[in-house]
Amino acid sequence: MKIYNSQTGNKEDFKPLKKGEISMYVCGMTVYDSCHIGHARTVLSFDLMVRFFRFVGYKVNYVRNITDVDDKIINKAEKEKVPFNKISEKYAQAMHDDFISLNMLPPTVEPKVTDHMNEIIQMIETLEDNGYAYSNNKSDVYFDIKKYPEYGNLSKRVQEDLDSGSRIKIDLKKNNPNDFVLWKVSDDEPSWDSRWGKGRPGWHIECSAMSKKYLGDNFDIHGGGLDLKFPHHENEIAQSKCATDSGFAQYWVHVAPLNIDGKKMSKSLDNFHSIKDVLNKYHPEVIRIFFLLSHYRNPINYSFDLIDESKNILDKLYESILNIDIDLDYKEIDNQIKTSFIEVMKDDFNTSQAVKILQKIAQNLNSSRLNNMEKDMRIQASTIVVLGEVMGILQSNPEEYFQFDVNGDISNSDINKLIEERNIARSNKDFSKADDIREKLLLKDIILEDKEGKTSWKKLS
Ligand SMILES: [Zn+2]
Repeated sequence: MKIYNSQTGNKEDFKPLKKGEISMYVCGMTVYDSCHIGHARTVLSFDLMVRFFRFVGYKVNYVRNITDVDDKIINKAEKEKVPFNKISEKYAQAMHDDFISLNMLPPTVEPKVTDHMNEIIQMIETLEDNGYAYSNNKSDVYFDIKKYPEYGNLSKRVQEDLDSGSRIKIDLKKNNPNDFVLWKVSDDEPSWDSRWGKGRPGWHIECSAMSKKYLGDNFDIHGGGLDLKFPHHENEIAQSKCATDSGFAQYWVHVAPLNIDGKKMSKSLDNFHSIKDVLNKYHPEVIRIFFLLSHYRNPINYSFDLIDESKNILDKLYESILNIDIDLDYKEIDNQIKTSFIEVMKDDFNTSQAVKILQKIAQNLNSSRLNNMEKDMRIQASTIVVLGEVMGILQSNPEEYFQFDVNGDISNSDINKLIEERNIARSNKDFSKADDIREKLLLKDIILEDKEGKTSWKKLS
């Protein structure tokens, strides 16, 4: 198995610390708003990795945290005049609902910051006792990056660059502008008691404390969105290595962003589509295959056209298993195909190649169907469903999958398909069918215009 390690910039042979077991920590959500489709990309990428690891026989301990105390949560709570945990609980619930809709596997452990204040405080105390952290005159507690010469190794930034290029406002309480906060002293709620006074943790320390608790000082994979590489992951490494004198994570895996109009989709740019909105339009597996068609390390540009194209691919896969009685207990699958599937996935999760393999199976299925080769069809059908499950697709009943559009908005590709069907009906002089299709589209606010032998459509606004 080869995995690209962002720490070294190389695809490396993957060797877990414990034979047959994988320990993996992924930075989760800060729950102050609904999740968008860019978040879905990151979390679904790790979901896929966990599915694949389990498929090839590893036991996976998958930890994904929830940041349930943070300035963004507190600010929103103040605005809405409710306690901070009303906000975090509401959005943690919304996140779980979204993730369940996307058929994501639950993490093995999903720790929350507010449940781990003792571990967090203890780690900051260790850092301070060993000279890695300081607080000037009862101020906030900071990590002293000068005490950790390897600071910047993950993101390939050197300390001098950080200093001179820094546009961070000079904070007189800090020794160095890039020192980062471990503990914010504050009497305001929410706050917890500590030897530095009442306060709450900085953001980065939670992942160091919680990964240590659930995975130990050394573990296999640390993952997150590429935007977390600096400073969040850089800071985690500094904290964990200095507090535990250990290797921390062996492999760093970062998922590239989902862009929209060339910019990263994000809350702060206000250019996001929430998971809920997208799921109103598309079947959850369409979102999956849209992501699977790109490698997790390549940025994706979000566009409805691209999603429609992905939907066509998934439609064809589902068509191949339509009206086949698939017996999931039927264990006979095509081992040669399974081996080649595993091979491409072992190459740093080459999902687009894996989808191609599923497309090949669908072709085989269609030709077996034409030739009435029943046994072949059964084997190919179980193969495509079993391998599909590893990718989180082809898990719906095909009939139900094709009914999905009826409830949601209609996609461009479906409109074009219906227009094509209508043209065929008209050339066969089946005018009642042609009218039915026109009516059906009108119900979705789509009007057709026939001009000079061509049909165009527009959406009623
Ligand atoms: Zn983290």
